[in-house]
Amino acid sequence: ESIPLITIDGPSGAGKGTVSRIVAEQLGWNLLDSGAIYRVLAVATQHHDIDVEHEEAIIPLASHLDVEFKIVENAEPRVMLEGEDVTDIIRTEEVGAVASKVAAFPRVREALLRRQRAFKEAPGLLADGRDMGTIVFPDAKVKVFLTASAEERANRRMIQLQQKGVDVNIGRLLDDIRQRDERDQNRKVAPLVPAEGALIVDSTELTIEQVVEKILLFANDKL
Ligand code: C5P
Repeated sequence: ESIPLITIDGPSGAGKGTVSRIVAEQLGWNLLDSGAIYRVLAVATQHHDIDVEHEEAIIPLASHLDVEFKIVENAEPRVMLEGEDVTDIIRTEEVGAVASKVAAFPRVREALLRRQRAFKEAPGLLADGRDMGTIVFPDAKVKVFLTASAEERANRRMIQLQQKGVDVNIGRLLDDIRQRDERDQNRKVAPLVPAEGALIVDSTELTIEQVVEKILLFANDKL
């Protein structure tokens, strides 16, 4: 048990993705983007014409999910499903909504546990998600809960979408975020709550750099 681990959990839009990538890069560690796994599973249900309300049908898909992260220097890793590049598709709001539905099924989550834990390899792992510190890696020494106000998260999402040339309605984005939070926080399995002993970071008024620095300082003390 010597492989060091940092978990970063929190709601979508808090900056977890970017922060996790930078922290993992600075430490030279592996990165688990567990949200991407749920998103890929969502796309797989569509490819295989599986009803997203049908837990029994999704379980075998989850246990055999053929997902791979291809590392690319200085860029986001490419996400592959059955050999097909799904990096862009998985980031759509539509796929995010389906992901949060399939993620609410206890046995689907269980079917993905082993795959997620397999990312724990030397020299270390940065695991990003909703239940990394509570369920998937409860023994992690360093746990972080990264959050931000719903308004700020909607705002960041709007800017991201505008940069992609997508027309957005801020009110609708805010509603979507609140609905997703509600579902993630209140589901019976692995609800989104800070792990015991987690450092709580509110990024509403912090830059990415400031968040990274806080996490690295906290980790330095603990590892
Ligand atoms: O983090 P991201 O927005 O990519 O995650 C997509 C969805 O997957 C979340 O809304 C959440 O419902 C689910 N998820 C989860 N547990 C994780 C990561 C993501 O339930 N560890």
